[in-house]
Amino acid sequence: MAEAVVELYPGTKVAIGPPIEQGFYYDFEFPPDARVTDADLERIEAAMRAHIEADEPFERRDVSPGEAIETFRAQGQDYKVELIEDLVRDEGVETVSLYRNGPFEDLCRGPHGPSTGRIKAVKLSSLAGAYWRGDESRQMLTRVYGTAFFSGKDLDAHLERIEQAKARDHRRLGPQLGLFMLREEAPGMPFWLANGTTLLRLIEAEVQAQLRKRGYEEIKTPHLMDVDLWHRSGHWDNYRESMYFTESGERQYALRPMNCPGACLVFGSKRHSYRELPLRIAEFGQVSRAEREGVLHGLLRVRAFTQDDAHVYCAPEQVVDEVTDICAAIDELYARFGFEDVRVELSTRPDKSIGSDEQWAQAEEALRRALEGQGREYKLNPGDGAFYGPKIDFHVTDALGRSWQCGTCQLDFSMPERFDLSYTDPDDEQRRPVMIHRALLGSMERFAGILIEHYAGRFPVWLAPLQAIVLPVSDRHNDYAGRVAAELREAGVRVAVDGRSESVGKKIRDAELGRYPYMLVVGDREEEAGAVAVRSHEEGELGAMPAAELAARVRGESERA
Ligand code: ZN
Repeated sequence: MAEAVVELYPGTKVAIGPPIEQGFYYDFEFPPDARVTDADLERIEAAMRAHIEADEPFERRDVSPGEAIETFRAQGQDYKVELIEDLVRDEGVETVSLYRNGPFEDLCRGPHGPSTGRIKAVKLSSLAGAYWRGDESRQMLTRVYGTAFFSGKDLDAHLERIEQAKARDHRRLGPQLGLFMLREEAPGMPFWLANGTTLLRLIEAEVQAQLRKRGYEEIKTPHLMDVDLWHRSGHWDNYRESMYFTESGERQYALRPMNCPGACLVFGSKRHSYRELPLRIAEFGQVSRAEREGVLHGLLRVRAFTQDDAHVYCAPEQVVDEVTDICAAIDELYARFGFEDVRVELSTRPDKSIGSDEQWAQAEEALRRALEGQGREYKLNPGDGAFYGPKIDFHVTDALGRSWQCGTCQLDFSMPERFDLSYTDPDDEQRRPVMIHRALLGSMERFAGILIEHYAGRFPVWLAPLQAIVLPVSDRHNDYAGRVAAELREAGVRVAVDGRSESVGKKIRDAELGRYPYMLVVGDREEEAGAVAVRSHEEGELGAMPAAELAARVRGESERA
């Protein structure tokens, strides 16, 4: 691409061009009169294809930094000169590698494929502005994004996935389906609308079922707590940049970015015997984090969200069993939501951390044993743990094959010390409990966003905020429609009525866009028969049936396996 660009726009300065997850980009400083827009991408692609057809070999040569600097300076390629000077200063390199294809030579660490002919399909997708080295005080460059494949078929499949992802984008479906909205008045803090609030409640009910089954108790603790608490918990030293602070009277407070200190105050408020352990304390806790505005993204990256959080206090010898139980809860829960493929990652001690070497070694070992005891495959992420302990993260794969991080299970030998927590062991000695932080879904709101995209807004019957909509054929059927809806609600079905003075055809088309699992058409015939004409999204026309029969059907489809 750089070769094509320099050829089409002589005088262009090339900066850096790395591969990224979805393809590649290259940053350019175009000549002032070039005015490159999206409309020019096809032209650049065409020039690229000419070089691909020429099957130019990539030839490497290793030269001294001095020689490379001279070469690029002669071409006016200032960014390359700066890159090489930095390599010498920061890494003390004695040679740099240059790759040539056709008339074009670039600084590159390599390796490269043998020749341009290996590229069978290429597509430039978009342009964006980017500062040189991400530094706002430096030159603004033009970033060109693209992707390449070994076959045209692979490229088509990739473009198709992008289209599908657009159609499923939760930021579009959220307002369209009455789930949530985002407003300038509160960036990164979603407003949940009626259907979305129902969705969150339904998700929460599934988590609650796991809590009951696995012997958790549930608490609620304050959003706003004295700054001293956050000093004591270590958040002030390690997490301050992501926190919101406020003052009232003489006191300074912080909005909680995590729920753990609240749970520790609850645990520490009374004496505990070893017989009570493991003590599992859950909280659906809303937390606030001061994310930069630029990184906010729909429900996936926000400033306020609710964790389905819990803290388990246990004896060291109970850790492996507890972690195993948490993994089982996650498996069951994810399967219920339609995610069968769960990937696991184990993250170890980061550079910035609290706690001793011995504590970290023990904690990492316990997590490893729990995973290996279940025969689970996992990926190791060295240095990616939380500041207070190592962690296991759980990822799901959605309908488009994209991976999302959701649940987490983190060991913590440090916070029990900071809060001086203890229990009495069988010999009447005071012992420190181990603390496990765990969230099954992670952020409830983010999980809702993932579900919206996974199902493209068309939720299974049990999860649909509204399971059915009653469509009166004309205004004179509105009373009967209301009675049907009341009967269905009584039987536990979540139902709406479209009482507008529109044709039934229009109502059906709108209900289709609303993604209701069932449409119930009521006209003269249905009213006389005391029935509803049922149209299922999954199965098509089901004919007329009494409302009670539909209710039984919906109930059957909503039961947990
Ligand atoms: Zn926690």
